[in-house]
Amino acid sequence: MAAARRAELVARNSVPFRAANEKLKAVAEELGVRRVLFICECPDKTCTRVVRLELSEYEAIRSHPTRFLTVKGHEVSAGPHARVVEEHDTYTVVAMVGEAAKIVTELDPRSPSPRNASP
Ligand SMILES: [Zn+2]
Repeated sequence: MAAARRAELVARNSVPFRAANEKLKAVAEELGVRRVLFICECPDKTCTRVVRLELSEYEAIRSHPTRFLTVKGHEVSAGPHARVVEEHDTYTVVAMVGEAAKIVTELDPRSPSPRNASP
């Protein structure tokens, strides 16, 4: 049970960072800015690191409900609940796995769930 709780914590701590980045992305699109400082989406609540990405690079991550952006080195924060899917010079893309993946998918505002379906 401890592992399941840890998975939930990892998932729930990462989701607000993703939501914040989605807002940053929307503002940047409005202003016509192409490169944006995004917040590290690792599950460490005290993490304040940022990394500059092209909007298209961030969108490539964000379009997957289980994928998260982390600055290089922070991919370990999620422990066994995420695996590395891409490594770049300044950032790493991780994908949540197992229970954590289920939770972040449920909490993804882009997910086609009944709660989020348009009328
Ligand atoms: Zn971090």
